[in-house]
Amino acid sequence: MSRTVEHFTTAAAALSFRTGCWIDGRFLPAHDNARFETINPATGEVLADIARGKAADIDLAVASGRKAFRSRVWSGMTPAGRKTILLRLAQLLRDHLEEMALLDTLDVGKPIADTLSIDVPGAADILQWHAEALDKIYDEIAPTGGRDLAMIRKVPLGVIGVVVPWNFPLDLAIWKIAPALAVGNSVVLKPAEQSPLSALRLAELAAEAGLPEGVLNVVPGLGHEAGQALGLHQDVDCLAFTGSTETGKRFLRYAGESNLKPVWLETGGKSPSLVFPDADLEAAAEKAAWGIFFNQGQICSANSRLLVHESLAEDMIARLKSKAEALAPGNPLDPATLLGPMVSNEHADRVAGFIQSGREHAHLVAGGSQISVGRSRAYVQPTVFANVPSDCLLAREEIFGPVLAIQTFKDEDHAVALANDTVYGLAASLWTRDLGRALSLSERLEAGTISVNTVDALSPMTPFGGLKQSGYGRDLSLHSFDKYTALKTIWVKY
Ligand code: NAD
Repeated sequence: MSRTVEHFTTAAAALSFRTGCWIDGRFLPAHDNARFETINPATGEVLADIARGKAADIDLAVASGRKAFRSRVWSGMTPAGRKTILLRLAQLLRDHLEEMALLDTLDVGKPIADTLSIDVPGAADILQWHAEALDKIYDEIAPTGGRDLAMIRKVPLGVIGVVVPWNFPLDLAIWKIAPALAVGNSVVLKPAEQSPLSALRLAELAAEAGLPEGVLNVVPGLGHEAGQALGLHQDVDCLAFTGSTETGKRFLRYAGESNLKPVWLETGGKSPSLVFPDADLEAAAEKAAWGIFFNQGQICSANSRLLVHESLAEDMIARLKSKAEALAPGNPLDPATLLGPMVSNEHADRVAGFIQSGREHAHLVAGGSQISVGRSRAYVQPTVFANVPSDCLLAREEIFGPVLAIQTFKDEDHAVALANDTVYGLAASLWTRDLGRALSLSERLEAGTISVNTVDALSPMTPFGGLKQSGYGRDLSLHSFDKYTALKTIWVKY
């Protein structure tokens, strides 16, 4: 197969999209036949008309999930049976690599090179990891003594609502669906309105893998309609959310206004990367550029603040300038493209607004332009600002775009104070060859993951999530199962 832009363009044109609500094992129109458009940000053209699920469709999906759960068709299946089906689904994702990669590339503008090598294989690997772990979770017996047997069982909760954003459509859905299904729950997934296509195809593949009807339902729709209905639902047992901090706060309110469902939040970030004079400066610069420009900077844990020791300022600014200028956004269907468009014209406008305000308060080192192609104005140049004051928007707000803010520090205490001067606490990086410094600063930095001499260290084996207003849920690792199980005591006298 020749991997040229022509090949991917032809393959994209030949795709057929799934556009209904996936409920009880089949595609349905929304109850009122409402639809919304999903736009290809690379062109600004309409990609597909999607069923616009609302409260009535969410009701149907939750009822289907509840029926499947009560029937024990999935929760009562042997762990080996659940494992086989989830492993089959992981394999189906690999078998449909190009199709799944194209769906996310078309929906959100991710470079095809990334969706082929990172998003889809990553989703399959994470699903496989959870499938392989599910029959290694043991229950406990309490040491009561006497003629008592007190078992502490980890039991599935029931129906899990999952609401995800658009920046890694397939991956972030799998991060939650995989552990939730692995332990026997049913799931109702509400993908982001910008990116429903891969989730809908995933549901169909799950049925092909043998997942019983009703165990996974997918209701596309808008946040304030389908998302809110899921958050407020009286018969949803747990809500797992990834998205903005603002929406995360809404889900906490929804739970309080409805049935007190536990809510797990993975929200925004403004992650710092700290570079000390004893670091490998080229590696630090290379990873700093990747950390903010990969996925067009639309990453919750993007290292959007580069904090460098004052003695390194000139050198690091020059390195980042040359790395930013070596990258230009291009056609995401071209396998040579490293940087695609932002997810939408509106989001690119918002990022351009931050750049405009940055010009007034900081020094623009590289980039800064928003570029139009046809009806799309979603392309934003990799942008670097230096001399960024701590109180300016560039240093404080989650821009969610390819915009790096460089600041300088005098010593360790100053570096830590700058790094922690944010409401967020998702990730932090630090670059030093001094192990003592690395360990002591790792304790002082307020973030869920500290990467030393790299950025965004990530694996299915380690938990991912934040502190402060970055949320408190943890995806990935064996800890992810805790969110989707309850402890049940079964006490037997004999
Ligand atoms: P968003 O909060 O606008 O939307 C996320 C999801 O919530 C979407 O499915 C949306 O439809 C839904 N939603 C929106 N408004 C809602 C409402 N009123 N009621 C119910 N549901 C609603 O976020 P986004 O713009 O799609 O994604 C970007 C954000 O996601 C960034 O803040 C980013 O940091 C965050 N994010 C966090 C992580 C993490 O793991 N911490 C990972 C990726 C993205």
